[in-house]
Amino acid sequence: WDMFVLAFIERAFQQSYRKDDFVIGKKLGEGAFGVVYKASLANKGSPKQGDLVLKKATEYGAVEIWMNERVRRACANSCADFVYGFLERSSKTKGGEYWLIWRFEGEDTLSDLMLSKEFPYNVEAKILGEGQGLEKGLERENRIVQTIIRQLLFALDGLHSTGIVHRDIKPQNIIFSEGSRTFKIIDLGAAADLRVGINYIPKEFLLDPRYTAPEQYIMSTQTPSAPSAPVATALSPVLWQMNLPDRFDIYSVGLIFLQMVFPSLRTDNGLIQFNRQLKRCNYDLDTWRSTVEPRASPDLRKGFELLDLDGGIGWELVTSMVRFKARQRTSAKAALAHPYFNREGLLGLSFMQ
Ligand code: ADP
Ligand code: MG
Repeated sequence: WDMFVLAFIERAFQQSYRKDDFVIGKKLGEGAFGVVYKASLANKGSPKQGDLVLKKATEYGAVEIWMNERVRRACANSCADFVYGFLERSSKTKGGEYWLIWRFEGEDTLSDLMLSKEFPYNVEAKILGEGQGLEKGLERENRIVQTIIRQLLFALDGLHSTGIVHRDIKPQNIIFSEGSRTFKIIDLGAAADLRVGINYIPKEFLLDPRYTAPEQYIMSTQTPSAPSAPVATALSPVLWQMNLPDRFDIYSVGLIFLQMVFPSLRTDNGLIQFNRQLKRCNYDLDTWRSTVEPRASPDLRKGFELLDLDGGIGWELVTSMVRFKARQRTSAKAALAHPYFNREGLLGLSFMQ
């Protein structure tokens, strides 16, 4: 009950907002279930200053508000800073729409940064500030990629330890927070909280096929339909162990890792083609490598070279993420302890590490 009492107290003392408190700015994104805008508070004298992000969502907004409030209490640094969420009733739309407000973390998603010709050096500049002046090359690129993957796994470990599976991990849902100079996860619209049974039945139609693990459903199909909340709380640690739903997100991280290393996988078509090849190899990365490496382009070859540094620990890590069977994939916590991260990341001299 503590959690509910705490949530209630928090709610009672928290500043509350309504529609007229916001000035809506430019559109940042539009999905099937909502529209996202940059926004600010109409009353500049309000205690909370600065740019905000507003999502106007359909019925799934209720779950997204719930997830964001849970994250704010349990693992705040994993995700974009959530400010407030409410139901805006209206006569036009049946049932109204949900409004969700976050702090504006910055302009760039990992997708934006990865599509730039400067990648990964543009990320290095953001994390360290300009003017590091080190020589470009494989070794340096490897450190940058390593730092990004570590930050991503760190955020994900926070969510998973809280009992939340994101289910839509992709570069478009990873934002660079200018304030903390780290990557944070956004868009909990498809997330599932297995400890309390919220959004327990997978809404597979919400998922992005480019990044989904082959099992698609996070729980095995034998799992009975959603039990009521108290039952779910009692059972879910067991279910978690049995089904390892967190490994669904790990597969997506593995794909992002590959995209960072192989420029040809960064475009939609490149990724789709890769997925097709991998499926033909029964989702075995070693098999994929042996089929493409003999005829590899210089770009691909460079990627393999990067992963082969230090006795191939990068390749070892990425193959432990991208596996057909969920139970053979590493967890976020185990991945963070992998020797790939032992070496100094983006300049151990940085205050960030
Ligand atoms: P959708 O359901 O449309 O995918 P998202 O929550 O992913 O909604 O947000 C859409 C886009 O809005 C993101 O890709 C990102 O560019 C931007 N965005 C979302 N949240 C933030 C935030 N807290 N700070 C800055 N930009 C954000
Ligand atoms: Mg999104």
